[in-house]
Amino acid sequence: MIFTINNIIKQTPCSLENVRVPLRKGDNVLSRHNLTILFRALFLYLVIPQSLVSQSLPRDVEASFASAVSQSRLQETVHKLVEFGPRMGGTESGDKSAEYLTEQFRSAGLEVKVVQDPELLSYEHTNWSLAVEEPASMKGLIENEWLSGYSPSLAPQKARLVSDGDSEGAYSGSIVLTDKRVRPEFYDRLVKAGAVCILTYAPAEAGKYSDAAFISSLRASAENPIPVFHLSYSNGERLKQELGKEINIILSFSSETVIARKSPKTIVATLKGESDEYYIVCAHGDSDSGGPGADDNASGTAGVVEVARSLKQLIDDQQVVRPKKTIKFIVWGAEIYSTGHYVRRNADALDKILGVMNYDEIGTGATRNCLYFESNELPHNERLLRTLNAVGEEYVGKPGFWEESTTNPSQGGTDSYVFLPDYLRRLNMPDVKIPSVTIYTAAWDELAHLKQTEGWASKAWKGHPDSVTVDFSRYYHSSMDIPSLTTDAEPFNMAWAVKAVGMALLRLAW
Ligand SMILES: [Zn+2]
Repeated sequence: MIFTINNIIKQTPCSLENVRVPLRKGDNVLSRHNLTILFRALFLYLVIPQSLVSQSLPRDVEASFASAVSQSRLQETVHKLVEFGPRMGGTESGDKSAEYLTEQFRSAGLEVKVVQDPELLSYEHTNWSLAVEEPASMKGLIENEWLSGYSPSLAPQKARLVSDGDSEGAYSGSIVLTDKRVRPEFYDRLVKAGAVCILTYAPAEAGKYSDAAFISSLRASAENPIPVFHLSYSNGERLKQELGKEINIILSFSSETVIARKSPKTIVATLKGESDEYYIVCAHGDSDSGGPGADDNASGTAGVVEVARSLKQLIDDQQVVRPKKTIKFIVWGAEIYSTGHYVRRNADALDKILGVMNYDEIGTGATRNCLYFESNELPHNERLLRTLNAVGEEYVGKPGFWEESTTNPSQGGTDSYVFLPDYLRRLNMPDVKIPSVTIYTAAWDELAHLKQTEGWASKAWKGHPDSVTVDFSRYYHSSMDIPSLTTDAEPFNMAWAVKAVGMALLRLAW
């Protein structure tokens, strides 16, 4: 049975009614009553564990938690993380970020463990250049470009730009412009034809990534012979038009990258409870696209730190005692990869995990100001999601809280899924059931319209009760996922996500 705070509050005084104080001759009703009050007070003070006393003020505690959450501190953390670089697992910027986070959790007073995940082939750029040299009128045209993951280092050089629509004979010694994604077969074909560099502006859809370059990665290898640069739609289209006029375009380019086998560092900060059963609050610490990753996922990382710091502050200020359940705050060194290794390492003790609350993209939203809680079609997620949804409904519209919230069905693609049956089946753990959800304000690069799971219409959702429109980020996996366009543009998103998870934990873990 789930022993809720309300149960405890209701039951404590009731059980005291059964305590009988014997009446002596001469006692009157009033003095007996006084004695009972005195006895109750003494009982509450001496007998009831402090963990239960703390539950008599849940609303006050929730309000204190919410006021401890600092939006400016969240923004500051994002800035710091983005300044390190893309923070991919096993890279220098990833290590710097891990060091910084360790310090943040330690200074909040938590016990921190740095876990070295198994080595992977890590990639990081240290520098690059790309510019139009001729014609002079087009100098300075290229802006906000980004180097593709696993591009090699190449010394500065100049070459002529050709279109992928030209005959392959024209590719030799040239830079090839394409609007297609550079998948391995396509890359190999251009390399074979003698291309020295590739420029792509995929997905090349009008209205998307107009001034930002969508970033992807080459195959993870230290042997890729030529670099690929991603361009914005406007830059790509302009170059294509100029090539169509048969104008001779010369570009210069260079790249400095580091490709090496290294271990991503996963940070595990623990807030010890009375029991070793635990909740996880987590986020991937890398910008999985290899871009700046302010929203995806410095926002989520900052969120994990802020929940930890604000909850610890409540304990330090003696507004609550330590929780009944332990809480682990985890920042994954590499999305999915580090999470998978965590599950493997803890395969014998997965039953200790009471629930996972994962943050991914809590820093922006293109069309709504909504908190989403995913995945509601899984029966074993019910308690966790009902709690988040209840918090969502109780606080919606209040000053300092979200404009909308809802649960929604699975969309996949983030760390919470590693704890869910489909992934666990692959690890030969088909019977393990870990409640696992993701909290976010945007997902992917376009709106998604989902049918709402039956029984999950939320009073905090402003749309039709039978459907959910999932908001997106205009800068998803792009060169412009930077604070000024995402987390600083609407910093309230992060604060809301922190408040929702912290308040849910106060209901679940204490
Ligand atoms: Zn992400």
